[in-house]
Amino acid sequence: MKRVLLVIIDALATRIVGPAMQDGRLPNFSRLAEAGVFRQESTAIFPSITPAATASLMTGRYPVDHGIAGAFWYDRDSDRVAYYGDDIWVMLNEGIGTYFEDFLVNLNFTRLQAETLSERVEKAGMTAAVLNYMWFRGETRHDVNTPLLLQLMPGVSLSDSISGPTITTLGDFVTSRIPDSDEMLSASGGLTRRYGFHDETSGEYLLQLARTSGLPEFTLTYFPNNDWDSHADGPAEAISTVERVDGIIGELIESSGGLDAFLSEHAIVITGDHSQCDMADSADDRAIDLDALLEGFDRVPAGSAWGDTDDLMVCPNLRTAQVYFHCSSTQEHRDEVCRRLLSDPHVDQVLWADPFRSEQNSRFEVRTADRGRLSFQPTADGTEPDCTDLYGNRWSIEGDLTAIDASIGPDGQVQYGDYPNALERIANGFCRVCGDMWITARPGSEFCLSETSVHAGGSHGTLHRLDSISPLIVAGAPDDVEIPPHPRSVDIAPLCLTILGVDPPDRL
Ligand SMILES: [Zn+2]
Repeated sequence: MKRVLLVIIDALATRIVGPAMQDGRLPNFSRLAEAGVFRQESTAIFPSITPAATASLMTGRYPVDHGIAGAFWYDRDSDRVAYYGDDIWVMLNEGIGTYFEDFLVNLNFTRLQAETLSERVEKAGMTAAVLNYMWFRGETRHDVNTPLLLQLMPGVSLSDSISGPTITTLGDFVTSRIPDSDEMLSASGGLTRRYGFHDETSGEYLLQLARTSGLPEFTLTYFPNNDWDSHADGPAEAISTVERVDGIIGELIESSGGLDAFLSEHAIVITGDHSQCDMADSADDRAIDLDALLEGFDRVPAGSAWGDTDDLMVCPNLRTAQVYFHCSSTQEHRDEVCRRLLSDPHVDQVLWADPFRSEQNSRFEVRTADRGRLSFQPTADGTEPDCTDLYGNRWSIEGDLTAIDASIGPDGQVQYGDYPNALERIANGFCRVCGDMWITARPGSEFCLSETSVHAGGSHGTLHRLDSISPLIVAGAPDDVEIPPHPRSVDIAPLCLTILGVDPPDRL
């Protein structure tokens, strides 16, 4: 049995990584791709936002099933806002311990609605290691160490322990004993390395585990820096960050006795949760001010609960945003909000599910200013579909497929341009806690409110291919394991389980 190492690099973009591999800048990725399979296009979910997108990698499911609606949403049942900003680690740097508590406990144990890959592996009697990943739910208790700097801050009190896979690390907060050893995993974090939520720390944990006991049956290692650096400096500049991850993988291979020896024992899967587009040069083009666009509507202040007179709540998620309407809102309100939003040339699409404000999302709408409007739904059994897709879905379509830059090919299959796999991603992107409406921005722009800021370098969140396409490298997998020819984020967990000989659960 091959052990599986899943390497997730945040915001890994094929358009950056592909040319860098050709130029010899990622030598270890290149030799793994040569020894195995390199898929240029693995498609993210919608919204292409880290908490939702990494949850899909970890569960094999879309938001409709895992219940994570981006990084910023409103939970109607508990009347609470969930905020796991894309810069969650920046908030940690600011010392806001309650975010970490919410993140540690609620995100994994209350909000996530689907079984994780590591839970599945351990239920099958194998050992899993999850190193510095947002999704770590499991059965083994681990002590939480509050870093001294956080202990000194008023109002910060963290849980004494969490439960995770047998081997769990969460930056400076949680480490584990190395199996069959007296040694604890330890790596340097601290303030300069975002309390250990940092590529160098992830790499140190991974290498120490491999050198001391060897990797267990399943290991997931998460490298966050490429997303931060791409946001700040642009995805092309951040390639030096990916080069350092390539170097860590190279060290791992050498410490295992070279590539052949490594691949005789391990299968390695490398991918990203989404990609990033470049932000516009001019600050005016970068920010879509939703307060200005929705002037006249009473908006709930960001992070607050509903007031009696509020009309709507807006939750920006970088290049996408969710709009929640008050329970007394009418379809006319929605149409007026849609009209206002589409009057801004930086807004691309407005999406909603019908019937309006119902949990029975049977039909999906896409409105644009310049490419028409589309209405679609999964085709009912016994009815002829208007088109099918690569994944066996059958769709009934009304209106303009140009709204998602798609057309129907001679074989009856939908063909996508700028918005890969849009129908499936939209239909599965609406979950119980998401907004009544999603808005997407054209490449180069992000949504903001008076309380929030925008990035200068790169960003993501939409259905657009610039936000959505990561590479998939798989090496060392047994010959009889088929690597999906057109992979999606939701295919990664089933692929890892198949390599391990574990049956994916139904619909995983
Ligand atoms: Zn990001």
